[in-house]
Amino acid sequence: MTANGAPLPTSQKGYRLHREEFPVRPPADGEALIEIEACGVGSTVLNLLGGDGWDGTTGLPRVPGHELVGRVIETGSSADRELIGRHVTAYFYLYCGRCEACSAGLEDRCRRLAGLVGVEIDGGYAQFATLPTRNLVTIPDGIDPVAATVVPDAVATPVHICRTRARVNPFDRVAIIGAGGGVGIHLVQVARLFGAAVAGLDVSDEKLAAIEEHGAVAVRSGDFSGVDGRIWALGGPTVVVDFIGTADSFAWALGAVEPGGRVIAMTSFPSVRGDVEQRHLVENELTILGSRYATFREVQLAVELVASGRVQPVIGLTTPPSGVPEIHRRLRSGQVVGRAAIRWT
Ligand SMILES: [Zn+2]
Repeated sequence: MTANGAPLPTSQKGYRLHREEFPVRPPADGEALIEIEACGVGSTVLNLLGGDGWDGTTGLPRVPGHELVGRVIETGSSADRELIGRHVTAYFYLYCGRCEACSAGLEDRCRRLAGLVGVEIDGGYAQFATLPTRNLVTIPDGIDPVAATVVPDAVATPVHICRTRARVNPFDRVAIIGAGGGVGIHLVQVARLFGAAVAGLDVSDEKLAAIEEHGAVAVRSGDFSGVDGRIWALGGPTVVVDFIGTADSFAWALGAVEPGGRVIAMTSFPSVRGDVEQRHLVENELTILGSRYATFREVQLAVELVASGRVQPVIGLTTPPSGVPEIHRRLRSGQVVGRAAIRWT
């Protein structure tokens, strides 16, 4: 029985690799059962489905989707019952909560990471998901669930970049390579909130229009050799965030960034390398940084930015569950501005 007396759901429809019916996993101690209202879809999901970050077939079949938003309908332990009825989203990493990094509030660096939501545990491409309560981040009632799907990754990741890694400030000029995508278009907004002037590089007219609409200089970047790094009258960027992560985009970032600047690498594809002349780093006092997801606190801060309207969710495509193949097709061909989302309810 759930808290309001309704019988516990025992079966559900959703996507694992195709749509099918499969059992609901009842919550164990320390877990909660969530009725999914919406789930964001971005290139991370496609990469994970393609096998990036997946060690073969362990645990398959698996329900993908980490950008889930829903309502807690049951908990495994009575100690967690205050969560029932709350709207939640999920912290992406299955962090341990006890290691040195977690104790310091750096859950993104957890030393005993048990995996990712939607990879090592079923995610939001289904009507229900069973997740550790420690992963749940509550969101205020009244936020549209589809809008809230940007919180746990598309907004939280930019908060981590600006707040913790690049330490963006009002004297910065931030250039974002791949600024029209799901994380990029929200980084445009978050970097502006941190006070920076922002430029967004991308390739399609639609994405360049969205970049401009959110207050950044739009720069067409189909061929990096033709992109002038001096984007502003004052000069080039002091921070470059590279979501594309090709040898060309990385070389452009290192060449365009001003002396003393920071280049933030964001690709999670294996074996991607970039060529760096070490003397160029020395003579220009450049810093190359990696930025990995966000801390739990930063996901909470992302909730505040969206709930207060200071960050506007950019969701270029929303579909019912039957539209999942179409979402994947359009994401793969780069046709979606911002994030895509599945609406379950
Ligand atoms: Zn840990």
